[in-house]
Amino acid sequence: MNPQRQALEAVLQTLNKAASAAGRPAVRLLAVSKTQPASAVATLASWGQRAYGENYVQEAVAKIGALRELDLEWHLIGHLQSNKCREVAENFDWVQSLDRARLIEPLSRYRPDTRPPLNILIQVNPDGEAGKSGCAPGEIAALSRAVTSAPRLRLRGLMAIPEPTPDFSRRRRTFQQLRAWFDELRGEFPDVDTLSMGMSEDFALAIAEGATMVRIGSALFGPRS
Ligand SMILES: *Cc1c(COP(=O)(O)O)cnc(C)c1O
Repeated sequence: MNPQRQALEAVLQTLNKAASAAGRPAVRLLAVSKTQPASAVATLASWGQRAYGENYVQEAVAKIGALRELDLEWHLIGHLQSNKCREVAENFDWVQSLDRARLIEPLSRYRPDTRPPLNILIQVNPDGEAGKSGCAPGEIAALSRAVTSAPRLRLRGLMAIPEPTPDFSRRRRTFQQLRAWFDELRGEFPDVDTLSMGMSEDFALAIAEGATMVRIGSALFGPRS
């Protein structure tokens, strides 16, 4: 088996094992394809992987255009600048990095009528790290209400990146805290269904603590240069 195929099978095996242990069989895999060429995405797509995460709008829009006939699902997971809202609303299926109110109106206004509403996750900065994207936990409620009242947006849940500490018991506590905020959000908005947390190093732990979607780059594609 070729090494990329082997990597995908290994990730799926770990994912499925963690998901069935957690009693949540529907955990989704988002393949993080930032810095990878369109050809690497096309290869993964030929084995059935549909959803891809990108950090940089320019890079992503080129790949989305090149791979349009494959009908893939594209998620923005990198920091969103307000001057990029139009391009993002026109090209992506999901935005996982909405972290401030001023992005909401332009994303909704520029979402083409010919496409379904843009799926939105609110990005939280769960450990209060300085200089990191994501809203403060206390802002989740107001941001989520604003997203649900925007006509062309659809609130789906939360995304977060815990502090990259080697202490996995701390990461676990952060995942548990995120799960609690997610459950609270679901209490108010029953359509909310997505908790995006866990990356190559810690996705089995994230699934055990309630992730419904994991975002995986290096474990699928190898280390980024
Ligand atoms: C790069 C990135 C990932 C993937 O990280 P890996 O450690 O390579 O799996 C996941 N989420 C976000 C937001 C990223 O920027």
